[in-house]
Amino acid sequence: MTKQHSGIGMTSQRTRMRMIERLRAQGIRDELVLSVIGDVPRHLFVDEALASRAYEDMALPLGFGQTISSPYTVARMTELARAGGVLNRVLEIGTGCGYQAAILARLAKEVYSIERISGLLAKARKHFRELRIANVRLRHTDGQAGMPEVAPFDVIIMTAAATHVPRELMEQLGVGGRMILPIAQHGEQRLCMIERSANGYVEKKMDAVKFVPLLPGVA
Ligand code: SAH
Repeated sequence: MTKQHSGIGMTSQRTRMRMIERLRAQGIRDELVLSVIGDVPRHLFVDEALASRAYEDMALPLGFGQTISSPYTVARMTELARAGGVLNRVLEIGTGCGYQAAILARLAKEVYSIERISGLLAKARKHFRELRIANVRLRHTDGQAGMPEVAPFDVIIMTAAATHVPRELMEQLGVGGRMILPIAQHGEQRLCMIERSANGYVEKKMDAVKFVPLLPGVA
């Protein structure tokens, strides 16, 4: 916990409050999402050398060639996922350093997160221990198959870009649930939201985004 209590300005409450003001100005409206993002110490999730940039609106490298999304992207995806409601069971594909999962853990009863790179899972585990986050279950596998044994999910969030929506994941979405993911098509990535109702699925294409690609297998 030494990093958290280092007392340097960059990790201070004021720096975080400035980030929240910026997110609000950028159009994030869900006050609960904003307050959770203001609470979770993002600098603990990035390498110490980058901690001073943790609250700037930028994606940062997290090791193994992967990136943690910008605060705006995390806020936007979380706001879309929550849709102002109460979340019971959430699935994330692409744990990375665990930042997005830590945010979701404050908004949902149970979070399941799948990562294909074992070294990143170890990092995420360490971060959850440090922050005493106990409602995230991690799994080391290719996330494209989801977790049928735990489904249905209220929300599925994917934080790596796929070329199409994996069918298994659509099936693991509960009725009334939603999936938020970046889809790469025609040389560009767009955030995509799929809502499942009793009548089927409705897909909406949204903001342009930039994510690392979804890859097969484990590493
Ligand atoms: N949500 C993360 C950011 C993740 S970056 C955070 O908050 O830090 C995207 C992650 O998706 C990377 O860690 C990458 O290894 C992982 N990934 C890519 N393809 C995957 C797959 N098929 N299954 C599980 N994880 C995958």
